[in-house]
Amino acid sequence: MSVAEVIVDVPTMQTNRPFEYQIPEALEDVVVAGMRVEVPFGRGKRRIQGFVMKVKDTSDFQGKLKPIIRVIDLKPVLSKEMLDLSYWLADRTYSFQISCLQTMLPSVMRAKYKEYVIPLDDAKNDSEVENLLNGAQTLEITNQTDEKTVRKINKLRKAKKVDIQYVVENHALQIKRQAVTTDLNVIQLHEQKSKLRANAKAQIKLLDFLANHLGDLPVEFNVLQKEYGISRAAIKTAEKNNLVKVVEVTKLRKPVGINAKKTTNLDLTPEQKTAVDKINSSIVKEDPQTYLIEGVTGSGKTEVYLQAIEKAIKKGKTALMLVPEISLTPQMVNRVVGRFGDQVAVLHSGLSSGERYDEWTRIENHRVKVVVGARSAVFAPLEKIGLIIIDEEHEASYKQDDNPRYHARDVALWRAQVNKCPVVLGSATPSLESRARAQKGVYHLIRMTKRINNQNLPHVQIVDMRDAENSAVKGDFSPALKEHLQETLNRHEQAIVLLNRRGYSSFMMCRECGFVLKCPNCDVSLTYHKDLRRMKCHYCGHEEPVPNSCPNCGSKKIGFYGTGTQNIEQQLNDLFPEARILRMDVDTTRRKGAHAKILAKFGQHQADILLGTQMIAKGLDFPDVTLVGVINADTTLSLADFRASERTFQLLTQVSGRAGRAQKPGKVVIQTFNPDHYAIKDAAKQDYETFFKQEMFIRHQSNYTPYYFTTLISVANQDEGKTLKQSYWLKKQLQGALSKDAILLGPSPTMISRKQNKYYYQIIVKYKHEPNLHQRLLEILNETQADAKQGYTIAIDNEPQHID
Ligand code: ADP
Ligand code: ZN
Ligand code: ZN
Repeated sequence: MSVAEVIVDVPTMQTNRPFEYQIPEALEDVVVAGMRVEVPFGRGKRRIQGFVMKVKDTSDFQGKLKPIIRVIDLKPVLSKEMLDLSYWLADRTYSFQISCLQTMLPSVMRAKYKEYVIPLDDAKNDSEVENLLNGAQTLEITNQTDEKTVRKINKLRKAKKVDIQYVVENHALQIKRQAVTTDLNVIQLHEQKSKLRANAKAQIKLLDFLANHLGDLPVEFNVLQKEYGISRAAIKTAEKNNLVKVVEVTKLRKPVGINAKKTTNLDLTPEQKTAVDKINSSIVKEDPQTYLIEGVTGSGKTEVYLQAIEKAIKKGKTALMLVPEISLTPQMVNRVVGRFGDQVAVLHSGLSSGERYDEWTRIENHRVKVVVGARSAVFAPLEKIGLIIIDEEHEASYKQDDNPRYHARDVALWRAQVNKCPVVLGSATPSLESRARAQKGVYHLIRMTKRINNQNLPHVQIVDMRDAENSAVKGDFSPALKEHLQETLNRHEQAIVLLNRRGYSSFMMCRECGFVLKCPNCDVSLTYHKDLRRMKCHYCGHEEPVPNSCPNCGSKKIGFYGTGTQNIEQQLNDLFPEARILRMDVDTTRRKGAHAKILAKFGQHQADILLGTQMIAKGLDFPDVTLVGVINADTTLSLADFRASERTFQLLTQVSGRAGRAQKPGKVVIQTFNPDHYAIKDAAKQDYETFFKQEMFIRHQSNYTPYYFTTLISVANQDEGKTLKQSYWLKKQLQGALSKDAILLGPSPTMISRKQNKYYYQIIVKYKHEPNLHQRLLEILNETQADAKQGYTIAIDNEPQHID
């Protein structure tokens, strides 16, 4: 008898374990781990989906096992590695295993799709295949497909005669295009060419093209037509004369804006060479070490990644490169595609399900050596990974905000152990956690301190907005920033203007002295709660009334702080009517490809000023940009989050790094009400190390990460009283499990304490070593399961990236 262990799609604590099902004889060879199946569940006739985790010969179960009803997938959708990962992930993130499995599944498999059997090229005339398809091109698999057929399909699949294709709705099964290829080699092509009459211009052109592009064949008809002016008729003539062959190719959609020119390895600088050598030695030794590259902006980290990836490929391995969604710009993608061409798959949220499916299939079929993608690409079905890179490793977007709340870095480290490959974390401004780990020798620190060509770092000017001159101006531009913008425009160079939008208008600041209202207990700023009209702390729950005047200087100029991008754009238009301005924010980038278009336009110098939010701070490399202006450096500084200084430092350093990257020197103007704050001063000097020391000191003083671990537990319910009661119950439970060294904060309301009619309260646990905590949290989840029916939601976030 064969038995399958199945994780069923019922996300509750009671069902968060494998259930055993009997594999019907007819499906004996078909069911394997990693497939989804339909199974009966509960006492009724309920049919649900589940993932096969394991197939085995015996069961300890006493009664009679229920049989699997049918297989949903004819081939596994998750590999053994992914199944193993799901156990760890579920435990680490306090999530149901089913949620983890579903998260790892490529999105196309979660969307509405149809499943087809398609014959493979060599087997089109195979009698068994013909028999199965019964004269049709394909066969759709549905829940009506009987077991006998399923078995036949499975047999043919194993014999590599058919394959299974998933087709997302609204996505044509085969987008086939006509294309041209040839069996002739260069010499033969030239021979044939010499035999042609001189007036056979089109034929000569075609043969020349083929001789020059032999490596790129087959090439589509419409490419030949559009880009080389070679007509369909010319191709047909050549086909008749046996010079070319016409074939059909499946058109693979390429993400918008990708237009990579082939590049080759650059000669490395000494710093780059040291980095590449170290990483490559670990690739060769299959040694799962973690390297942290702390490299100033413009130090050439990307070239280091590319040459290390090359090493992995040469070793017959694959490489995974994660970048933040926001910097998954055509610029970055072009760099990788430019080096490795068709061996690269790109995964990002801008792709349609169909496009994602194309990329995913290419990875799964081993046609891809390199995957570049945002957070969820960490689950890409790559095999034999030889290198994992996480660029801009400090980015908060590597942590998923919803269940399962995983951090891509943790998953990467896990996969590195399994694949025995090194991990490279790169950033100009590493997260404090990573830098501290490097300090302790857990990671290897590689510092790159020089810009390429020894280009100087841009000169940064801090403008004190409290100055009489500056506070007198009407708009948001200081005289200094205005002057520099004008000069840049006069020189026909380009400028980037950053409006720092995070934490927008939720805190109070004095425009006279820069004072920000803070919690007396927690050293984070207090947040305004509109519904209560009071200032609150998100950590400990401290609250106080909204002040009328500045507690520091008595000025009445204390108020909420913030401006929108549209408003700034208007001000720019008024100040510089002749300047061409591009605005990049959530509003202007909603449409697919809009982001890429704006950047392309700016890159071609069709605009003088790029105005934007955090989106424009990273990864951009435009040689004509010589000025960066920051309108309001303070907003991130005032976030009610212990990472406020770190975020501010990162943002300012990154955006400053956009100026003066080529031959022309760069200039940065930072407007702030806190010119003496170390995060701003150190960012102006691009001095990460000094910032790191200062920030570590402060984290140590106030018991924050990386000195303490943090776990955030939030409770929500429609009834505020019930939410609070549950929160206090939770707190009591935790108190019982924790030693007296742990710090327990809250319950306190979250930033928007009411979302979708639910009240949110949170408890924060800070601790160093609490062996009972993990188990106790799991038990609490279990014990509160029944409450879920009464509308309670409890969420546990390990190492939260935002506390709000
Ligand atoms: P970072 O990611 O560290 O900010 P980049 O990788 O964007 O820096 O590199 C900055 C610029 O220097 C890019 O235009 C890149 O093409 C160029 N560059 C990198 N390495 C070299 C090299 N060894 N020789 C010449 N140019 C280089
Ligand atoms: Zn507090
Ligand atoms: Zn004041």
